[in-house]
Amino acid sequence: MSETIPFTPIGHVISPYKEKFAIPRQPGLVSAAKGFIHLTEEVNNPEAFRGIESFSHLWVIFVFHATQEQGWKPLVRPPRLGGNSKTGVFATRSTFRPNAIGMSVVKNHGLVKSGENWQLAISELDLLHGTPVLDIKPYIPYSDAITNVQAGFAQQKPESLMDVHFTEAVTQDLTQFVQQFPDLKVLIEQVLAQDPRPAYKKDKIDTKNYGIRLYDFNIMWRLISASEIEVYQLQYQP
Ligand code: SAM
Repeated sequence: MSETIPFTPIGHVISPYKEKFAIPRQPGLVSAAKGFIHLTEEVNNPEAFRGIESFSHLWVIFVFHATQEQGWKPLVRPPRLGGNSKTGVFATRSTFRPNAIGMSVVKNHGLVKSGENWQLAISELDLLHGTPVLDIKPYIPYSDAITNVQAGFAQQKPESLMDVHFTEAVTQDLTQFVQQFPDLKVLIEQVLAQDPRPAYKKDKIDTKNYGIRLYDFNIMWRLISASEIEVYQLQYQP
């Protein structure tokens, strides 16, 4: 019988990303993405977080719960290689791993109270709503930030970003939600600038209509040139 090591989540992520499609491929790429880690009863105790305010960034160790059931294969196709070349799973940050564990550095905005519960406010996340969190640790630059490294196919941030435009109608609609969702427009811009389409479509124009879900909004968009996206519909569906 193979060894199993039980873990219990210490919290779950509250995220604007309500589906996998269009979540950035790493943290730190979308500064307008703000969320929380809602703590479970066992760790719902501010003493367990005493001193955390002195760290600007945290490691979040979590489970890729939405894809865990799909298992893993030794070779995966990293989007950064256009989705065509195969690479060993342990040479990638793929979600499809023998143990479906992810790790992301996020910005720390401290503990906040929500009813009876404490939540840890975070931003710049790349995490799906509902993601189970196994652990939180401070980010320590002297050890975690190594400069002068070789980073294979991911040496740099993806450099080419899409220009994002909004139709008049969407610009109007957005004004209705400014109070409740002040960062919504920037969030849409930053998310779409990453070009969430499958990697093989990068730098190519296609005529498909795409949708993404952020918070409780369905956002419809399409390509208007190889480097420009137009957002043409915004629907609020709580
Ligand atoms: N920064 C983490 C890491 O390196 O372990 C995650 C990198 S992974 C390439 C990022 C992708 O994970 C996102 O684009 C999103 O599609 C996916 N993702 C985020 N949360 C997830 C979850 N709970 N279950 C499955 N996939 C998830």
